This record gives sequence, C-alpha cells and structure tokens, in this order.
Amino acid sequence: MGFERFGKVSYVSETKVKDFVNYLEQGKIMGTQCRICKKIYFPPQMDCNNCYSKDSMVWREIVNEWTLITYTTAHFAPTGFEDDIPYILAIAESPEGIRLFARLSKDVSEDQLKPGMKLKLVPVRLPNDKISYEFKPIGG
Ligand SMILES: [Zn+2]
Repeated sequence: MGFERFGKVSYVSETKVKDFVNYLEQGKIMGTQCRICKKIYFPPQMDCNNCYSKDSMVWREIVNEWTLITYTTAHFAPTGFEDDIPYILAIAESPEGIRLFARLSKDVSEDQLKPGMKLKLVPVRLPNDKISYEFKPIGG
C-alpha cells in the first residue's frame, strides 16, 4: 500500500509519504506547493487539483499556527480505533488558508475549546510504529 507507517489515508506517492513521515518524525509539518499556480496542500499532494499540473509539487513547511473553526465529538471510530472513542475532531485553518480536519489531543476537553483559538499540529506515535498528527492548543 505504501503508507504502512502513516496512519491516515493520503493521496501521495510512496516516496513522498516516506519523506512526509520523516519530516513528521523531526517535528516538521510539511505540505506541498504547486510550482505552477502556487497553491499549498496539507496533507501533501503530488498532483495539483487547482491547475491540474502533474508532478509540479515542491515541499514547503506549513506555518504551524491554526485557527480553530469548529469541532465535534465523535462517538464512532474506524476499525482499529474503537478504544479511542469518544474523541474530538476539529477543523482549523492555517495562515496560508489551508483548512484541515484532524483529531484533537486526548488531553484537551471540549469545554477548553473556543472557535478562534490557536492550535498547533503535533506528531503522534500510534501503535505499531505508525505516526500521525493531532491538534493541541498553543500555550494551553
Ligand atoms: Zn497548481
């Protein structure tokens, strides 16, 4: 499958997923940017949905300061994650205008959350040596 070390479905090639995982392990939040139309993607993508150019992507570090837009508590989970419920899913926007849907850290409770607050993405280790990321409040 190519993303055995990454816990989320992605749309990038195996090589790029490996790079992405390596960056995450270093604590770097890397997206891709289209050289042609300059659109930025996170999670990284290999082909541009905006101008449809193929293989036009370069790595770019994402400004890791996200603004919480909305959130919801999930009481269901995909196979393998049943032990995690309930958990909070958030949508937040980066300064580049990227909207990202990701989980919030388990140590954050719903009453600490307020739309407009600042979040950062942090890498998390999953069982079986997988890696993913989640949101945490900045300074919280
Ligand atoms: Zn493009």
